[in-house]
Amino acid sequence: MIEVAGLQKRFGDNTVLRSIDLRVARGEVVALIGPSGSGKSTLLRCLNLLVVPDGGTVRMGERRFDFGGGDALPGTGALAKFRATTGMVFQQFNLFPHRTALQNVMEGPLTVRRMAKPQAEALARELLDKVGLSDKAEQYPSRLSGGQKQRVAIARALAMQPEMMLFDEATSALDPELVGEVLGVMQSLAAEGMTMVIVTHEIAFAREVADRVVFLRDGVIVEDGPARQVIDTPRQDATRAFLSHFH
Ligand code: ATP
Ligand code: MG
Repeated sequence: MIEVAGLQKRFGDNTVLRSIDLRVARGEVVALIGPSGSGKSTLLRCLNLLVVPDGGTVRMGERRFDFGGGDALPGTGALAKFRATTGMVFQQFNLFPHRTALQNVMEGPLTVRRMAKPQAEALARELLDKVGLSDKAEQYPSRLSGGQKQRVAIARALAMQPEMMLFDEATSALDPELVGEVLGVMQSLAAEGMTMVIVTHEIAFAREVADRVVFLRDGVIVEDGPARQVIDTPRQDATRAFLSHFH
């Protein structure tokens, strides 16, 4: 589905990703874990070129981008097209405050996909139903809980019919009692076969739902393996030390 090789990213003289090789197969769920500042968000954003790498390649199906080899950088049109193939959910919900849940979910299909209004509305209602919010379609974000807002954000990302979903600490800003409802939606997406890369501190969830866990430290992949193996019996001392904080 997506493959990156030799991926590098610097911010000024801060090298944040050092030479990342990562392959995510269609239908696979990969959890990305690691300390604060290790480069998880940057790597996730490089996967859909929201952050443009300084070196390496990003390949998704037939589309392939090479960076840092002297080739011209992809134009904004090519970048936008590539980004539209993935849905991204952030820690902050970023819903449009003056639009209802339904209007938030319809927005992308209407403006980007140029879908007719009845179709966009039918799709949005179907997706709100899928995230358990059919009864909140007409509510404004200010009237929704954090967990509900985040589920609208997931429905909104799904409305673009992405080939892959990226989650960056989607539950970190939520009150503890609201985390489960969002993880539940993510779990059912995984069960349906959605390709997903999830940055998370929810280690139990990663162990349960992910196929693979990738441990990143200082911009380097230290360990990459089957979820239960990495979490229960990590091979690297650094992984063990990191995971010990969660017990
Ligand atoms: P956290 O767990 O705190 O979210 P992270 O693993 O997601 O951390 P990143 O956000 O990818 O880490 O940041 C990695 C490094 O890159 C940090 O040193 C950060 O300060 C730096 N960085 C990230 N984005 C930018 C930016 N836009 N400009 C400059 N430096 C940045
Ligand atoms: Mg981050």
